[in-house]
Amino acid sequence: MTYHSVFLSAGLTRPVQTKLFIGGRFVDGRAGGTIDVFNPFDGQKICEIAEARAEDVDDAVSAARSVQPAWARMDASDRGRLLLRLADAIEENSEELIRLEALDTGHPVRDARKLDIPRTARCFRYFGGMADKFEGFLPPVYPGFINYVQREPLGVVGQIVPWNFPLMFTSWKMAPALAAGNAVVIKPSEITPLSSLRIAELMQQVGIPDGVVNIVPGYGHSAGQRLAEHPDIRKIAFTGSAATGRRIVAASAGNLKKVQLELGGKGPNIIFEDANLRAAIGGSAWAIFHNQGQACIAGSRILVHEKLADEFVERFSGLARSIRLGDPMDPATEMGPLTSRLHQTRVLDYARIAVEEGGEIITGGKAPDAPELAAGYFVEPTIVRAETSHRVCQEEVFGPFVTVTTFRDDDEALQMANGVVYGLGSGLWTQNLSRAHRFAREINAGMVWINSYKVVHPASPFGGVGESGYGREMGFEAMHEYTQPKSVWVNVDAQVPPHYER
Ligand code: NAD
Repeated sequence: MTYHSVFLSAGLTRPVQTKLFIGGRFVDGRAGGTIDVFNPFDGQKICEIAEARAEDVDDAVSAARSVQPAWARMDASDRGRLLLRLADAIEENSEELIRLEALDTGHPVRDARKLDIPRTARCFRYFGGMADKFEGFLPPVYPGFINYVQREPLGVVGQIVPWNFPLMFTSWKMAPALAAGNAVVIKPSEITPLSSLRIAELMQQVGIPDGVVNIVPGYGHSAGQRLAEHPDIRKIAFTGSAATGRRIVAASAGNLKKVQLELGGKGPNIIFEDANLRAAIGGSAWAIFHNQGQACIAGSRILVHEKLADEFVERFSGLARSIRLGDPMDPATEMGPLTSRLHQTRVLDYARIAVEEGGEIITGGKAPDAPELAAGYFVEPTIVRAETSHRVCQEEVFGPFVTVTTFRDDDEALQMANGVVYGLGSGLWTQNLSRAHRFAREINAGMVWINSYKVVHPASPFGGVGESGYGREMGFEAMHEYTQPKSVWVNVDAQVPPHYER
């Protein structure tokens, strides 16, 4: 536990958990290593957490294995009730979680209050309700036979989470896995581990049995790698970059574990000439600037009809310039810092690349000038006019950085929309119903938003196609991802089946 003036000044009045959570105990890593955690708003170190390495991951997997069968056999409604209680506990402690997430990630408290924490609670509640409603089925087979198919948990699953929505993504991964009767070993990002360790405490408080959830913050190349290759893990679910996704697939091959990948995106956000411009401008700002653009589903490529382009760019850039950057703890702040110094450098470098390739920076492209923001990892909301072949239109920038490209007609818009390796989120703004549905059918993406952007709900499948990965989170799809079918054949008449007779 760490009790530090940094936490007090952030309005956190109880000590913050900084150890690994294995088998229901908070422990140091066996090697005794630690990881420094920084405040993105001022670059100051806020605490050290214990570092999990391969041997700690092994301990966590053993702990999970020893309790998973009992967890799977528990009455499903009791399992569900524990998740419902956890959702309540998250809401009861929401103010603390909001501040912890803001301190660790740079998310403005107004966003964490509106989104991160309510969505986390909602996700646990949804899957808590699902635990005793997820059914098998009875296929119509040969006369004289009954065949029933039951869905069984996989066993111990490994889950690896990135830094952009640490708490929310922890819930997306954990909740369906637990509802289905799996035990989990979860590795938060080494950059943002604090909120998941607080969730571990809440899990104990509500009575989730020790060992069912184990949390091992550590580096990707050590703890993450071990999780991906571990022979006793039956599935690895990963959210992060495509480059790491490839390493995980390779590491998983040893025991042929199931793999689920939620990777990057380069979401097209198409504004047709008949769009409601006011809605499209507001929606496009939400699509790219929320969470400082650090969202895999961000609408990072605006494609706008040439007739509207000038008006759109003028009004959209006016809106971008008016976004209030500031201290994430200030309720008036609309945009906080990026989550790490390294990432800030990476995003700013894309502004240089854009110009070198012939793009035009309409606004932003630099850190803000205000002296009170100088120590933070800020990047101004950035809008760049660019061509589809430019790197900034092809590569995921993952910051408050959006390209604008014009199109002449629907065919060109579709070609541009599908002209990247990714296929995760996508949006379109039009009043034309048949065009909207035609594009929804033709766009290569796991999610399409019509006259909206970035709406998610635990009942609706979330995931991508192409190099955005495979598998789905949320809804019944997620329950399928965390279970496997077992087909049971019953010879009802107990006679020799006809094809056995000689
Ligand atoms: P990252 O791939 O660097 O890291 C993600 C996680 O993987 C971290 O916990 C990290 O420690 C771990 N990791 C790193 N190397 C590893 C290895 N060799 N083996 C096992 N684990 C390893 O990604 P990031 O920078 O943390 O997150 C940003 C990326 O995540 C972006 O590309 C973004 O699009 C993607 N993302 C995707 C989704 C989605 O749902 N599709 C959601 C959010 C973020």
